[in-house]
Amino acid sequence: MVVVLEKNITEKQLENIIKHLEDFGFAVHKSTGVEQTILGAIGVQPNFDTRKVQILEGVAEVYRITEPFKLASRSFKKENTEIIVDDTKIGGNEIIVMAGPCSVESEEQIMAIAEIVAASGAKILRGGAFKPRTSPYSFQGLGESGLKMLRKAADKFKLKVITEVMEIGQIKLIEEYTDVFQVGARNMQNFSLLKELGKANKPVMLKRGLAATIEDWLMSAEYILSNGNVNVMLCERGIRTFETYTRNTFDLSAIPVVHKRSHLPVIADPSHALGMRDKVIPMARAAVAAGADGIMVEVHHDPEKALSDGPQALFPGQFFDMMKQIRLIAEVIGRKIN
Ligand code: PEP
Ligand code: MN
Repeated sequence: MVVVLEKNITEKQLENIIKHLEDFGFAVHKSTGVEQTILGAIGVQPNFDTRKVQILEGVAEVYRITEPFKLASRSFKKENTEIIVDDTKIGGNEIIVMAGPCSVESEEQIMAIAEIVAASGAKILRGGAFKPRTSPYSFQGLGESGLKMLRKAADKFKLKVITEVMEIGQIKLIEEYTDVFQVGARNMQNFSLLKELGKANKPVMLKRGLAATIEDWLMSAEYILSNGNVNVMLCERGIRTFETYTRNTFDLSAIPVVHKRSHLPVIADPSHALGMRDKVIPMARAAVAAGADGIMVEVHHDPEKALSDGPQALFPGQFFDMMKQIRLIAEVIGRKIN
């Protein structure tokens, strides 16, 4: 931690700050410059609350130099994490596409969409059976029967499954049907759910919360990792900003930032970020160019009749176009898409 002191600090204030830092367990190194004096506080205390120093008289700024997340950090593990789901590897050179409807609506619906998803070369079928809807009056998902339909459709077309788990009580049930658990944006800081998923045997894709900083997001990943599940991938799906012309603001910069700080794979979801299908393809292209390890998109054979998120679901033709385009972009950056 670096503590920058006020220019007109008194000797007494300086002594008091040093004493506090030592009492907190840090070794203190002082560097006196012409303009400003800086203290280096050395000691590994990942969860130290820097406000305890910020509040002291004579302190101008406090910067933390070690990250509060450990198991998720690049300094803890240099190599990229690769998550193996049977014959599919997430986090390797291949960029994995996860596609499907927002919600599983019926067996006919998920079968029709699974066929499209498989034909495109995508590897993972998405679809919610338990839906976190903003309104309690909106379609809430088909529950277990939806999970059964999703699994059946995925198996028929040799796809893997990702579906959302909303609460601890659903983990066991969903684990029977899914290959990857999805934690939705609204649950990113549901720490008790994350802890339980840390004990589960399937990989977890953790979506970024609506108002979460990258650090908050990585700290949430830390909850899963520290409970024993090392197969965690992150998903950027847009954050809330003052902008109203898009559903959320797609923070593409999060992709290289997370890659620098963490070894975990990053998936990008332009559907939930943009909220309108006409803007999904350009941002899927951009996400691949930015280095995403996977793309999640919503696609529907009849999006105008979808029970949730229809306006952002791609028509099958658009989805095939997107796949063609992102394959070319992947090649430019030395990666590939099936
Ligand atoms: C979803 O994937 O359908 C979903 C609800 O996503 P998010 O949690 O990102 O809103
Ligand atoms: Mn959706």
